[in-house]
Amino acid sequence: MDYRKKLIVKPGSKVRLADIDAGYHGKHETSELAATELQQHVAELTRQQYLLYAEKKYALLIVLQGIDAAGKDGTCWHVLAAMNPQGTSVTGFKQPTEAERAHDFLWRVHAHAPGLGQAAVFNRSHYEDVLVVRVHKLVPKSVWSKRYDQINQFEQLLADHGTTIIKLFLYISPEEQLARFKQRLDDPHRQWKISDADYREREFWDDYGKAYEAMLAKCSTEHAPWYVIPSNHKWFRNLAVSQIIAATLQDLRMKMPEPTVDLAEIRQHYHAAVARSAGRRGS
Ligand code: AMP
Ligand code: MG
Repeated sequence: MDYRKKLIVKPGSKVRLADIDAGYHGKHETSELAATELQQHVAELTRQQYLLYAEKKYALLIVLQGIDAAGKDGTCWHVLAAMNPQGTSVTGFKQPTEAERAHDFLWRVHAHAPGLGQAAVFNRSHYEDVLVVRVHKLVPKSVWSKRYDQINQFEQLLADHGTTIIKLFLYISPEEQLARFKQRLDDPHRQWKISDADYREREFWDDYGKAYEAMLAKCSTEHAPWYVIPSNHKWFRNLAVSQIIAATLQDLRMKMPEPTVDLAEIRQHYHAAVARSAGRRGS
């Protein structure tokens, strides 16, 4: 199943988040029933990233956005587990430092864009500058409202350089968020993730909704599409994310590069070395 068709935000179209079911889970009823398909997508992702790394013709950028507890960290973990760490990076974007604030908003992000052959995951991204910044009025509207075009142009630049960009908006319901906050409270392994900002930000749910809708409407482009991933079910999120990335990479039709040496000649060296080694052992 190609989830891209169902989950893509078609360039130029508008999304109403209220119309999207965060609990959507496709044709499988349980994670167990989805396990085989998930394994196939993950294996394909591994294969494609190997090609990306070997061929060095393209780069891959995955942008993750979503409200607190939407599963950004879990998705990083899941996506990267399929990839060779040599050739991948993850960057989390927090509140900007003083030096970062002294620059334009794309400065800190551009530095982490993947080079050819590399895959990069952004856990939060330049989109925070039209999300949290817009919701909390951290800069005037005259500043943030220009950023949608600036982002589209920036992403066009990366695309022109050979970067495939996949943007994933992990979408959970407010009920699911509360359930995950409760898990964080109860589970000593998750308590470190709790911040009181989580509850404060919840109060701005509707404002974030508007900001997400604007981001999806203005910045889903042919060269860098947004996908809305229903994420109440973590297993469906992983299934959809791995399928979308693997299928997008498949479309690049990457090939194993030709060897840079003459294999027939190298084979002769090899056989000569074997013969010498046998001779040494024989004497
Ligand atoms: P977390 O991802 O839970 O570690 O939290 C990171 C925090 O940094 C979130 O509350 C983000 O909204 C915030 N953040 C990220 N980028 C920006 C930005 N450009 N301006 C202000 N806050 C930001
Ligand atoms: Mg957080």
